[in-house]
Amino acid sequence: MRLSTDGLIIKENNVGESDRAVVILTRDKGIIRAFVPGARRLRNKNSSSTGMLCYSNIVLFKSRDTYKIDEASAIEVFFSLRSDIVILTVAQYICELCLNLAPEEDRAEDYLRLALNSLHFLSKNKLPIELVKAITELRMMALSGYMPNLVACNKCSLYESDRMFFDPLHGLLYCDNCKPTNAMLFRVNPTVLTAMRHIVYSEFNKLYSFTIPDNDLKQLSEIVEKYLVMQTEHKFKTLDFLHSLNI
Ligand SMILES: [Zn+2]
Repeated sequence: MRLSTDGLIIKENNVGESDRAVVILTRDKGIIRAFVPGARRLRNKNSSSTGMLCYSNIVLFKSRDTYKIDEASAIEVFFSLRSDIVILTVAQYICELCLNLAPEEDRAEDYLRLALNSLHFLSKNKLPIELVKAITELRMMALSGYMPNLVACNKCSLYESDRMFFDPLHGLLYCDNCKPTNAMLFRVNPTVLTAMRHIVYSEFNKLYSFTIPDNDLKQLSEIVEKYLVMQTEHKFKTLDFLHSLNI
């Protein structure tokens, strides 16, 4: 079976002396694992277009359960992501999020669009790194079945007050009067709550269009990351490395 699609290389491994195994987040088939014969040979036509973080148009052949890349042409290589270790690590973390949260053998247009846009903002240095990270984490959670309920207090339906609380274990919001006493809770001020609602509920073309003061961004990052780690129960290697860089 022949398949032509576009996708982002989210993982690469060397195989043997000259081959490469890749994981691709494709538009049409979600996560695909594929083999690229000869990709590490000098002058191989698919060498740069099947490297990590490259967004390419790809022609794949599937025989039994194995995909092989026959041809790949680069659309965007995101070269500038490699100029800074923190930016590169966040980019790799975005890839690791896709690897763990995007579907396999199913359309993944929304995931691909989110990942590509976040890589774009990182590479152009247009938004604070922590904001791009938090947007990607929370929006991808919402896409992949971990959407928190941020509409109102889970008990009394109060929409907003100075003292609202987020329960990261259950993804629920509470007001001061209704908050459970035996749960781990984050206090969320109105600015942070507005940002979280925006990330979860806004149309995609407005997703990155908001600003948030530094102090609130710090709180937003903390809450979103905690929510992701608690919900997925996954240990993200790139996130650990990011923390080792004191981020
Ligand atoms: Zn309430």
